Parts: sequence; structure tokens; C-alpha cells
Amino acid sequence: MEYKNLSRPQLEALLDEQYRVYNQYKNLGLSYDMTRGKPCRDQLDLSNDMLALKYVKGYESISKTDVRNYGVLDGIPECKKLMAEMMGVGTEEIIIGGNSSLTLMYETLTGFMLFGTSKGAKPWCKEEKIKWICPVPGYDRHFLITETLGFEMIPVDLCGDGPDTDKIEELVKDPAVKGMWMIPKYSNPSGEIYSDEKIMKLAAMKTAAPDFRIICDDAYTVHFLKNGPAKQLNILEACRRAGNPDRAYLFGSTSKITFPGAGVSALCSSENNIKFALSVMTVRTIGNDKLNQLRHARFLRDYDGIIAHMKKHADILLPKFNTVESILNTYLGGLGILEWTKPDGGYFISVNTLDGCASKIVAKAKECGVKVTPAGSTYPYKKDPRDRNIRLAPTLPPMEELDAAIKIFCVCVKIVSIETLLEKK
Ligand code: PLP
Repeated sequence: MEYKNLSRPQLEALLDEQYRVYNQYKNLGLSYDMTRGKPCRDQLDLSNDMLALKYVKGYESISKTDVRNYGVLDGIPECKKLMAEMMGVGTEEIIIGGNSSLTLMYETLTGFMLFGTSKGAKPWCKEEKIKWICPVPGYDRHFLITETLGFEMIPVDLCGDGPDTDKIEELVKDPAVKGMWMIPKYSNPSGEIYSDEKIMKLAAMKTAAPDFRIICDDAYTVHFLKNGPAKQLNILEACRRAGNPDRAYLFGSTSKITFPGAGVSALCSSENNIKFALSVMTVRTIGNDKLNQLRHARFLRDYDGIIAHMKKHADILLPKFNTVESILNTYLGGLGILEWTKPDGGYFISVNTLDGCASKIVAKAKECGVKVTPAGSTYPYKKDPRDRNIRLAPTLPPMEELDAAIKIFCVCVKIVSIETLLEKK
């Protein structure tokens, strides 16, 4: 029976019961952390072999470069080949960066601010105002970058197969709208996969700003949970087909393939944009970590090697996602107080509470020793207009902790939802 159809006495009785359970948990003095999408120890252990000396033996790239020395700004050929296969681009369309794709995204946007999007173009910092499209719910660190750079962020709802492209087509008629974020596959946090149709629309739409740019963060491109990575139209290919070859920049990394602190990242774009990006990058570095590039290329080998490795991650992660789903179903199914996603990949389960409940639920869980991502984090300026979205990150905690943490979370959802419904009775 949906809670909204219960009488006041029925709700009050349920509330008493839930508080009894809540206080029992609280007295245990637990401390569980589900705030960030980090791999667990078992996942990190999958790549320990990569640190063996044999993976850098000879210290020489196939190009005969000594990888211990300076140079090769765009990356050694075997690593470019590996990452190009993973990102679905050509080796002339890729630069290998350092240990973080987020750094590359930040650098790309600060580069646009300082120098514009191509040689001789107007730097964006000279524009009166820059507006930026942010599909929501989205990734807090994306929003932090565009907020820090002073862009006015415009939220656009995700619809289950990508953002509301009709709304975006309207927004881009404004020349101040210079670009958008996009996480095309197993999106953070909704898990959704952009449809090819929507990707094509974003690539082809007419924009008033000639230097409109899509910052496409394909962080979870091979991070499937079930039957291999979803097939998807590549954004660079779509932009090329649409006659806008320079519109998109595509990013990825091995952070959640090997080690998040010590992976390799990639920036992919048209040859034009790659040339320009290298001209900006060469000012700040002589080259990235080629020893790490070499061991990644030798350890993961090729696309099939990556997929085989990701299957091992999936074997660890799927039971965790299944546990969360099964507990949510058991404790909250059919009550009409929580909706949740059932992703085929990525790192998150995104839940929507009744309007106005998310912050209170997060606070209640924290009081009981369960930390989840702060409510609002999935929206620009940390402002979820309906205060209802919460991102659950089930990957890091061991199974027993995850099980207890989600059960406590369910109790908190029940308590806050009942209290909210009672206020309205
Ligand atoms: N992009 C998305 C969508 C993420 O969820 C994350 C990490 O959680 C990152 C980027 C970070 O990537 P990197 O470690 O390559 O900087």
C-alpha cells in the first residue's frame, strides 16, 4: 500500500516502529561511507601485477623512445593505440594525459578562457557572460569547474536516454551559451545511456555561438556490469558526420580500470583541436608519465584485454549493485516514497525521494553513522530545486557494510517520508 494513501494513525504507528529500528542502529555507533564512487580494495588488487618490473622492462617504447626520459607530449604510440581503441577514435585524434581526465577537462576549459578555442580566436574571458548547459542530475566536480570559471550554469533534465534535446536546441539560440557537459554512457549518477539519436542531435544542432563546445566525459565507457559495454554512436564521429568536426572534446581514463590515483587519461578531438590543445599543453609540460603509459599498454594489451579486465571488475561490482537493488525492493518497493535507477554499468544508483526530503534523509543517515553524497551535489550550485535526488555509491564498502548501510538508509527514507506526509495531512 502506498504511504500517501494511509491514514494519520496508520502513519503514526509506522513512524514509531521505524524510530525504534533507527535508534537500535544508532546505538551501534556505526561508521559507513558511501559518499564517493571509489573502487574497493578487491578491484584495486586486480591491477597489482601491472606494477611488476616486467611491464616496463627495457624502458623502451615501440617508437624506440626511452620512456624514462623527457618528451613525447602526446603519448607513446602503444598507449595512444590502446586508449584510442577504448575511446573509439583514431590515433591522430588523441593525446595521452596524466593521471586524471578531470585535470584535462579543467585545462581544456581554462585554455578556452585564456586563449579561445583555436589559434587567434577570442578568449572566452573577454566575453561578457558565458552560459553552460548542465544535464541533471550530474557530476558535482563538473559543476565545480564551470562554477569556478564563473559560467552561468543552466540545468537541463535528463530523460532516461540523454538530456531534453528540444530544450537544448532552444537554449543554444543564445550566443552566450558556449557549451555543455555530457556523460554519454552509464552517466554519473543516473546510469543512463544517451541514445544515438540524441547524440546526433547534439552534434548537428545549430548553435548561435560558432565556438560552442561539447565536453563529453566518457568516464564509464567500458564500465559495464552485465553483458559488455553498450554500443553507442561516438560523439566525434557524430560531429564529423554533421559537419561540425571541431565541436566535441571527448575524455576518458583508466582511473576505474587500473588505479584512480595512478592511471592514464585521454583527450580526444578533431585533428585541428588536437593540434591546438598540444600548443596549449606544451607550455606547461615537456611530457606526461611515459613509464605509466608503457605499463598500461603492456598490461592491458588491447581492447579485448581491457574488456576481459573489466569483466573481473563487473564480477566484484554486480553483486553489490544487486544487493542494493534487492534491499530497496524489499524495504521500499511499492510504498511510493522512493524511485531508483537500475543501471547496466557505471558506479552509481540514483534515487529520487518525495519532494523536499533528500536533505533530511541524508542528515538522518549521517546521524546514524551512514554517510552518503550530500543532497544537492548532483545539481549546479548544489541546488536541487525539488530537493529529491541522492546519489548512492555502492562500490567501496565491503558487502556486509553495504548491506547494513542501505538498510539504515531505507529506515531514514521511511521516517522522513512519513513525517513529510504527516505534515500535509
Ligand atoms: N568523470 C566522471 C563522470 C567521474 O565520475 C569521475 C570520477 O568519479 C571522473 C571523471 C574522474 O576521472 P579521473 O580520475 O580520470 O580524473
